Amino acid sequence: MIKFLDLQKINAQYDTEINQAIKDVVNSGWYILGKSVTAFEQNFAQYSGAKHCIGVANGLDALILILNGYIELGRLKKGDEVIVPANTFIATVLAVSKVGCVPVLVEPDEASFLLSADHIEAHLSPKTKAIMPVHLYGQLADMSAINALAKKHNLLVIEDAAQAHGANDKGQIAGSCGDAAGFSFYPGKNLGALGDGGAITTNDDELAAMVRVLRNYGSEKKYHNKVVGINSRLDELQAAILDVKLKYLTKDTARRREIAKRYSTEIKNPKIQLPTWDFENQNHVFHLYVIRSNNRAKLEAYLEQQEIQTIVHYPIPPHKQAAYKELSHLSFPITEQMHEEVLSLPISPVMEEEEVDFVIKTLNNYA
Ligand SMILES: *Cc1c(COP(=O)(O)O)cnc(C)c1O
Repeated sequence: MIKFLDLQKINAQYDTEINQAIKDVVNSGWYILGKSVTAFEQNFAQYSGAKHCIGVANGLDALILILNGYIELGRLKKGDEVIVPANTFIATVLAVSKVGCVPVLVEPDEASFLLSADHIEAHLSPKTKAIMPVHLYGQLADMSAINALAKKHNLLVIEDAAQAHGANDKGQIAGSCGDAAGFSFYPGKNLGALGDGGAITTNDDELAAMVRVLRNYGSEKKYHNKVVGINSRLDELQAAILDVKLKYLTKDTARRREIAKRYSTEIKNPKIQLPTWDFENQNHVFHLYVIRSNNRAKLEAYLEQQEIQTIVHYPIPPHKQAAYKELSHLSFPITEQMHEEVLSLPISPVMEEEEVDFVIKTLNNYA
């Protein structure tokens, strides 16, 4: 059986160092907002090219806290419209709703699956105050064009970088090419904790100071509450584990790209559409390798029978979810078709060459 993602094997690579990191935290006697979080925040800020990194409890909270931070700073208010891609994981949309802003869904570019500046323009209104591009599947959105559009209309740009740790293009790195970014360290993400975790990165000093306070009950000084905050802290154990894994992330990403390149050059089957990617570019970290097929159910069943695990990211678009009945009348043909056709192949830094061979051969034999 070829697993979609073998988390046990991924973490076993760093077994000794992870166990030592855990032991050090246990023995330190300090478990919340201590040395490990500070060290990881510094290292991850540097990795993402950002001035600040603030560790939080998960990726959804990272996005919520950024939006809340801008509300506290008077740069956003409830009722403001925020542009989000129609084909994202639900968290992007939830974050906007949770702070009382209005998500405005926009179709992605058909080839890249990413939000593009051309598609955004028609959805701008006097109430639009921010754009939240998602670097979906690990591929950097066209940030130059999105930033230019945002500048023209005086909008904030908040990256949902939950799938794109380290993606970069011509000096732009996920996490530092908008006003702020939210990351997730959910175990299955490219940089995954052994539990939940997340982070905010930004070059904005004011926002950084505000979210630092908001994540910790709204207090800078214990028992003195400046704003109405929440409890959303990255904990010391997860930070120490993430700091170990961060050292190997560039190497792990290189392996993901190698596998993606093999898939993209060796899978040859007219029934299967491959993702668009220029091999020379570092703009994709291949959190997921997503193919399309117009008879997905058949392909899925075939791969399952050949003992290759696949997953659909995602089966139901946000506007068709029960949670968003008020959006269900909207029509997004590109998004809806994508959700019918996409299938994610196994990809991970610990996949063996023979496993990659087998996936390629099996797909080429699919009739
Ligand atoms: C994983 C993910 C999130 C949320 O992260 P959690 O840590 O699971 O809360 C947000 N956006 C996208 C695109 C994601 O893939």
